[in-house]
Amino acid sequence: MQKLTAQRQAILDIINRSDKHWDADEVAFKLKEKGISIGIATVYRGLAALAEQGLIESIQLADKKRYERADKSHHDHLICTECGAIEEFCKPEIETLQDKVAAERGFKIQGHQLLLFGLCIGCKAGES
Ligand SMILES: [Zn+2]
Ligand SMILES: [Zn+2]
Repeated sequence: MQKLTAQRQAILDIINRSDKHWDADEVAFKLKEKGISIGIATVYRGLAALAEQGLIESIQLADKKRYERADKSHHDHLICTECGAIEEFCKPEIETLQDKVAAERGFKIQGHQLLLFGLCIGCKAGES
């Protein structure tokens, strides 16, 4: 594997040291806190490149991408459209059903993402 630039290594470190799902702005803010000044366009390119190399995972939301550590075990996501909260889940029944759907069509799965959009428990309670 080619060596990462210092900038990309700094981005990777931030993501690897947390369980969060980061967007580019949050990563840029964190870099700034650590005294590392990288333009937002460079952060975007760095995140995309790290995901391309499989060093981080990307999740495509409606409006933007978020990124997380690549070494978590497989999971899917619930996304709150009100507060942006992201919860993780893994249901073996769903995983099995997906394999079944693919097998019925002679399809070889290379990966999948399941995103459930809606209101988290807190936002649901706050609805009037
Ligand atoms: Zn919420
Ligand atoms: Zn996740």
